[in-house]
Amino acid sequence: MQILVTGGAGYIGSHTCFALLEAGHRVIVLDNLCNSKVSTLDKIKLLTNKEIIFYPLDVTNESSVDSIFLNHRIDAVFHFAGLKSVSESVKKPLEYYYNNVVSTLILAKACQKYNINKFIFSSSATVYGRNKVPFLEDSELMSATTPYGETKVISERILTDVAKANSEFSVSLLRYFNPVGAHKSGLIGEAPNNIPNNLMPYITQVAKGKMRKLKIFGDDYPTVDGSGVRDYIHVVDLALGHVAALNNLLPGVNVYNLGTGKGTSVFQLVKAFEEVNNVHVPYEITNRRSGDIAECYADVSKAEKELKWKAKLGIIDICRDAWRFEKKYEV
Ligand code: NAD
Ligand code: UDP
Repeated sequence: MQILVTGGAGYIGSHTCFALLEAGHRVIVLDNLCNSKVSTLDKIKLLTNKEIIFYPLDVTNESSVDSIFLNHRIDAVFHFAGLKSVSESVKKPLEYYYNNVVSTLILAKACQKYNINKFIFSSSATVYGRNKVPFLEDSELMSATTPYGETKVISERILTDVAKANSEFSVSLLRYFNPVGAHKSGLIGEAPNNIPNNLMPYITQVAKGKMRKLKIFGDDYPTVDGSGVRDYIHVVDLALGHVAALNNLLPGVNVYNLGTGKGTSVFQLVKAFEEVNNVHVPYEITNRRSGDIAECYADVSKAEKELKWKAKLGIIDICRDAWRFEKKYEV
């Protein structure tokens, strides 16, 4: 198939482009490079020995998006492009709603116009808000805790309504848990353009000496050791989950948790990273981060059963691969 990948130069998009090319698909990437570099696409070409068609454009620009659909035969759309900093979304809600919701609207509209009926959307476990863990796909989405989370809830609703109105439209809403790690080559990985917000890139940058200390946001949660618990999934497993979602796409709305089903605390992750890589990660305990929940992990039985997909890599692979990428990575 020929697949349009928005945000394909970014962290998860780049690993998914790799997996799609390896599975024999062709990819067209749209990315405005606001949080990525074009060199990532060159590295994927090097690793796969395959071509990628790239357009450096903003997915909120409707006429540019339309011209791509007009000029290429597209079989499926994978929509990764989005702003993803939870804390920034609280400070800049309009920017987040505009970028993340308008991009979804424009792509859904183009799919309708050009009769493209396969759509895979990057959603997030954040849509579960303060539901009880483990999170299940059929839980009621009460309220996300941040504007970023709301952009995912709204985009899911838009795509669900499009599928309700058009029985030929198939959409997969993939709710990612915490993607971490990097491709084993060490060539592609998480390389945010600014100071990282997520835990793992922060750990790797402190270990490398780019940052002095990790701040651990709270040690008084009702968890195994007081620090926050998350379901860390290796990005390579996550990328393969997208290929499985495409292969098993049913008409209508398909919702899947892509996680491991296991929770790991901040302290456990830092300790594993230090042990696996034989490095030191200095840290201090600070206040809780606003909007954070104590625990977040998936029930993954639906994806395992229906997609015949399961995360295979664990915390040790994650820590080793994230560090290999960070050591090789030059800004
Ligand atoms: P990323 O920032 O590395 O990748 C997103 C890519 O989209 C970047 O290359 C960026 O330049 C591009 N982009 C953003 N807005 C754009 C626009 N308007 N037009 C064109 N390109 C645009 O982030 P990621 O971690 O790869 O996340 C991919 C998707 O998965 C996002 O939608 C994110 O919200 C979602 N997600 C990420 C996580 C996570 O922890 N990384 C968790 C759950 C969901
Ligand atoms: N966290 C932390 N310090 C950081 C970044 C994150 O202690 O610099 C904690 C955070 O409070 C949460 C966990 O690490 O418990 C994962 O945070 P991340 O931002 O990576 O993912 P999210 O909270 O969005 O699931």
